[in-house]
Amino acid sequence: MKGTVYKSTGSWYLVKTEAGESYNCRIKGKFRIQGIKSTNPVSVGDVVHFDVEENGDEVTGVIKEIEERQNYIIRKSVNLSKQTHIIAANIDVAFLIVTLNNPPTFTTFIDRFLVTAEAYGIKAVLLFNKIDTYSEEEKDEIRYLAAMYREIGYTCLGISAKTGKNIDQLQELMLGKTCLFSGHSGVGKSTLINKIEPSLDLKTSQISSQHMQGQHTTTFAEMFDLNMDAKIIDTPGIKGFGVVEIEKFELGDYFPEFFKLKHLCKFNNCLHIEEPKCAIKDALDEGDISWSRYKSYLQILEGDEEHYRTDIYPK
Ligand code: GDP
Ligand code: ZN
Repeated sequence: MKGTVYKSTGSWYLVKTEAGESYNCRIKGKFRIQGIKSTNPVSVGDVVHFDVEENGDEVTGVIKEIEERQNYIIRKSVNLSKQTHIIAANIDVAFLIVTLNNPPTFTTFIDRFLVTAEAYGIKAVLLFNKIDTYSEEEKDEIRYLAAMYREIGYTCLGISAKTGKNIDQLQELMLGKTCLFSGHSGVGKSTLINKIEPSLDLKTSQISSQHMQGQHTTTFAEMFDLNMDAKIIDTPGIKGFGVVEIEKFELGDYFPEFFKLKHLCKFNNCLHIEEPKCAIKDALDEGDISWSRYKSYLQILEGDEEHYRTDIYPK
């Protein structure tokens, strides 16, 4: 039998077949570990092959094999062993929910998310939420940002989780896909998911509420089928988007507009800072690469963890 892992408790995995039947599965005996070494050999989102075992009235499954992962997001434990935990696998789209105010989402935060998505090999989409609340000036800022990110290949959509504006367009982007939603607490993630599927009570909402903040949670990720043809992976208690370690020389590869030009730099190990005949710096001077993105690049390169609002309007 073949199915997808929807939930995991550590030793048991809830696997759903394409026919919609669910099996409680476990791993038994020899099991060839896929790809990286992690504390969990099988993760939510994995496509697995399993044998069905009948034990009296109980029907369970034994996972034999995992299909190669399209991508996966990880978390490193904070203790000394720094073990890797696979949070979820086979994500088709990662949506970042962005708001200008309440809370502010800074461009450096957006760019970090995009870099991580690129490094993981996951398609990223930016959702500008709460468009029902913005002044004309703020709408201009949203338009400017959306144009900037569209220019470099990212899909952007202005939405209102409250009024339902453009939710139909969002659903089109989600169709047939396994989706992940991220964003600062308060951007409207729960409201949005509730708008799409009122019956779905994600743990997300509890986690982002005040009393749970900062508390250690051991909740596992979980996948949900929506009434429309799409799946959502909920990652309660997991801040942001996991971590990837990126080498300095690699970083530019995850800025698509830099990657396109880097072969034109004089040095093939160019960091695009002070080097002569740097195609990225030239493009920056010409206005073909935005200052906002370049600043984020420098900030990530320097390992600065703070997020800033970059002054996006050209002087
Ligand atoms: P979460 O922490 O990302 O899950 O955010 P919530 O869904 O709890 O939303 C935080 C606050 O923003 C709530 O008071 C929502 O009612 C409000 N909110 C969410 N989306 C919108 C929107 O599109 N427009 C407006 N005006 N308020 C919104
Ligand atoms: Zn360069």
